[in-house]
Amino acid sequence: MDRLAGQVAIVTGGAKGIGQGVCEVFCKHGASVIIWDVLDEGKQTAQSISDVGGNISFRKTDVSNREDVKKAAQEAFDQHGKIDILINNAGIIRDRSFMKMEDEEWDAVININLTGIYNATKAVLPFMREQKYGRIVSASSINGVLGAFGQTNYAASKAGIIGFTKALAKEVGKHGITANAIAPGFIETDMTASMPQGVVQMAIHNIPVKRIGTPEDMAYAYLFLASKEAGFINGHVLHANGGQF
Ligand code: NAP
Repeated sequence: MDRLAGQVAIVTGGAKGIGQGVCEVFCKHGASVIIWDVLDEGKQTAQSISDVGGNISFRKTDVSNREDVKKAAQEAFDQHGKIDILINNAGIIRDRSFMKMEDEEWDAVININLTGIYNATKAVLPFMREQKYGRIVSASSINGVLGAFGQTNYAASKAGIIGFTKALAKEVGKHGITANAIAPGFIETDMTASMPQGVVQMAIHNIPVKRIGTPEDMAYAYLFLASKEAGFINGHVLHANGGQF
């Protein structure tokens, strides 16, 4: 149960959903976790995990705000003396068919989902390089590979994360750092909660394990790629979708 003992992890978007699941599992496995999220709910999430023994804190942080992310990374280092793991999980959807899509919807999704990963990685990487160790795992999506109606912005951001990860892996590997991505399928979170029941049932029909995924399912995939033992896996995209793709 101590696969991350003594490790320091930053989880973006950790206030709820998949990110919260990652925080819970990482804490169970001995990591010290810092949540970076725009949602104030992150404070309660951190409190409830620390109530059951987790070592976790919340720092309100918008990953699309480059200067603030730099400050947050420095604070994390000052507080813990190192940063071992970065989970680039924060993400949003602003779905609309391409012809109707507003410029703001395109910009928001690219700025948070893709540039947010650039900002967080850029801020954290110098600390990982200095210590010659790091694990960076970023959230792509099944729809970054398959595309989905109404998601040109989201699919572009999630496909971009795959290219980013593969290129970064080639640069950082020699410094003891790995960069990988996870492409979740259909996971039960607020992001998918607004979908009509018919759409959910149809999705389940197309998933060979006949259920939608949970944040905990994803958290164990993140745990594996964030662990020391995954050191020979670099530039990989782990498709975690119950066999749907
Ligand atoms: P979620 O429940 O909406 O949680 C995402 C968290 O990130 C929220 O707390 C959100 O706050 C926060 N966030 C949004 N913008 C941010 C920013 N600029 N800076 C910091 N935090 C920010 O989403 P989820 O379903 O857990 O998804 C987590 C990741 O997995 C996302 O990258 C998503 O694209 C990816 N994913 C999810 C699924 C799925 O089926 N759920 C499938 C494939 C991929 P707000 O609520 O205020 O936006």
